[in-house]
Amino acid sequence: DIVYLDSHFVPKEQAKISVFDRGFLFADAVYEVTAVIDGQLIDFNGHFQRLQRSCKELGLSLPITKELLVDVHHELIEKNNLHEGLIYLQITRGADSSRFFDFPSSSVPSTIVAFVQHSTVVNHPNAKKGISVISVEDIRWQRCDIKTVALLAACLAKHHAHQQGADDAILIKDGYITEGSSSNFFIVNRDNEIITRPLSQDILPGITRQAIIQLAQEEGLKITERRFTLDEAKKAKEAFISSATTLIWPVISIDNEDINQGAVGHLSQRLRDIYLDKALKK
Ligand code: PLP
Repeated sequence: DIVYLDSHFVPKEQAKISVFDRGFLFADAVYEVTAVIDGQLIDFNGHFQRLQRSCKELGLSLPITKELLVDVHHELIEKNNLHEGLIYLQITRGADSSRFFDFPSSSVPSTIVAFVQHSTVVNHPNAKKGISVISVEDIRWQRCDIKTVALLAACLAKHHAHQQGADDAILIKDGYITEGSSSNFFIVNRDNEIITRPLSQDILPGITRQAIIQLAQEEGLKITERRFTLDEAKKAKEAFISSATTLIWPVISIDNEDINQGAVGHLSQRLRDIYLDKALKK
């Protein structure tokens, strides 16, 4: 594979960054993951806007224009012959051997890395069969709205889930579900009302989440942004997670309790189909 590192495209074995990079030492870095289907970027504008926002919130100046970033993404698709998968992009506050916690001088250049991941997006088996999740306490910090690479709490949550034989974890804060370990979380109640937690510093403003809200409204479906408890989720008619990596994956059990008798929900399936349809037509 060819990766992008600081204005150069190089074979992945040759892409090296400093041990003093602040992304490595302090998780002082932001990232984005964009899905690629049929060689096309999905919802790139949304991902770019969120990247701009993440940088702004951390006082990190975005060192690359949108046009250049689009070119980088397209070149990675081309050079790696990526038909379907993901593009990972990370920007760090650069390398500074003093290891001072405070920001380095503005003359220290940021580090930009991007690479492709070949993976199945459209016909992923989890989309058809659904996934099982367990609930774990949300032990993350108070700015989960910023997409930083400080992902240890998410790694632990995912690890616990896998250890218990589940596919993923959903996170609980003060008795209410915030989101998935690397996704947003939705339920559908008995009145076919789709419910997801409102945006705040407690969750990541998912680009897929936003697209789902918009298309649900366009389809005349009832969608509400409000908090809900773990108990309400377990009693829901359907549940699903959303992210660029998964698009929509139905959730068929929570803490070993079946949702929809362990079958993929009708509305979850329909939303995924419509989302894919719209994304590919853009
Ligand atoms: N929430 C968290 C914690 C995530 O890590 C992610 C994506 O990785 C999402 C939500 C979904 O965001 P998006 O739809 O932009 O991929």
